[in-house]
Amino acid sequence: MERREQKIFQRQNRSVEVCGKCGGEGKILVWPEGDLWKQEEPTLEVCPLCEGSGLLRKTVTITTDLSPFRREE
Ligand SMILES: [Zn+2]
Repeated sequence: MERREQKIFQRQNRSVEVCGKCGGEGKILVWPEGDLWKQEEPTLEVCPLCEGSGLLRKTVTITTDLSPFRREE
């Protein structure tokens, strides 16, 4: 069995950013289904993406995998 040493590093970057769906308002305007011309009164609903907070937590995981370079690969 070949023993191959591998080095794997993992780093997590966390940040908070403004929700792009509602623009940070936490609520979005929803027109009734089928109202393509937006003639009816829209209702104000809680943003499904940020659930009303107007902010999103973003977690980016970066994985670095170091392994020996082999010419035949
Ligand atoms: Zn939102």
